[in-house]
Amino acid sequence: MFNALVVEKDEEGKTHAAVKELSLDDLPAGDVTVAVEYSTVNYKDGLCIGPGGGLVRNYPHVPGIDFAGTVEASDDDRYKPGDKVVLTGWRVGEAHWGGYAQKARVKADWLVPLPDGIDTRQAMAVGTAGFTAMLAVMALERQGIKDGPVLVTGAAGGVGSVATAILANLGYEVAGVTGRPETADYLTSLGAKRIVAREELNETTKRPLEGETWGGCVDAVGGVMLARVLGQMQYGASVAAVGLAGGANLPATVIPFLLRGVNLLGIDSVMQPYDNRVEAWLRVAKDLPMDKLEAMIQPAVLADLPELGRGILKGQVKGRVVVDVNSA
Ligand code: NDP
Repeated sequence: MFNALVVEKDEEGKTHAAVKELSLDDLPAGDVTVAVEYSTVNYKDGLCIGPGGGLVRNYPHVPGIDFAGTVEASDDDRYKPGDKVVLTGWRVGEAHWGGYAQKARVKADWLVPLPDGIDTRQAMAVGTAGFTAMLAVMALERQGIKDGPVLVTGAAGGVGSVATAILANLGYEVAGVTGRPETADYLTSLGAKRIVAREELNETTKRPLEGETWGGCVDAVGGVMLARVLGQMQYGASVAAVGLAGGANLPATVIPFLLRGVNLLGIDSVMQPYDNRVEAWLRVAKDLPMDKLEAMIQPAVLADLPELGRGILKGQVKGRVVVDVNSA
């Protein structure tokens, strides 16, 4: 038997999340059974744990869109017992039971071997949010990051924290946008050179173009902020759009694209091909300083998840929540 956070739906359609005991026979079909060590709390997890169930496709459900652990049993030649693995994406924790459990059974294709230089706890301190931040940086690099500061929005959140630390470590001058002034020291410790108050960018303007300011941008917020940032990009610079913490509507004009050649790069971490996932994890191990990663970690256990899920939806979580699924 093992512990898991199970979300159930009652007859009135209300969802309830609680830690329960399950057996290996309860797990969904898959080629590889993993003894999960750590999982994390991402924005999507907040939706899946919360009332209404968000993105969950089947009940009862074990959420957790990512996990890292050790292979316990494998029907696939690529993995053997004892291998350290990490999983992000593939609708795990939404359509297939995920990482909020001491065991998970998944398709071998969804896993990535953990690279040298990073352990299972560090891998989940990175988690889906950090993996996505790395994909965003890689996408910006492919387009070319211009001289001048690189903006990170939602900087104190999961994606934003990791993007800030990676970009600063690569030598870029990072400006972090935050609505929480009390996180300024934290962002500076991750390498941000400048803190931009959220209010400065969260209001619409009639001017489709403003001063050419940013040499690149990782945007976790979307909405009005993304629209505003598009008009402030340098000529030919790129924005890697990752999330919608500030809203899904984009009240922008085409002018930044037409007159400044701005590139808007959409980042999807869910269906990433194997080679990209391996490359991104190798880059994480190389380009993300592990001492800065430590500073982002908020430890948690399975029983903390309902409250943390509510917190991340309100934008209250700082950095990365790492869930030790084997501790009470
Ligand atoms: P977090 O909640 O950790 O961070 C989001 C941050 O955005 C908050 O910490 C806050 O930063 C800022 N924010 C929140 N609400 C608002 C608002 N109304 N207006 C402006 N800023 C706001 O979430 P994650 O970093 O884990 O995820 C960020 C986004 O990226 C989410 O939308 C998530 O779904 C998406 N995502 C997308 C992925 C993909 O594959 N494309 C993968 C992973 C995440 P601060 O307090 O500093 O202002």
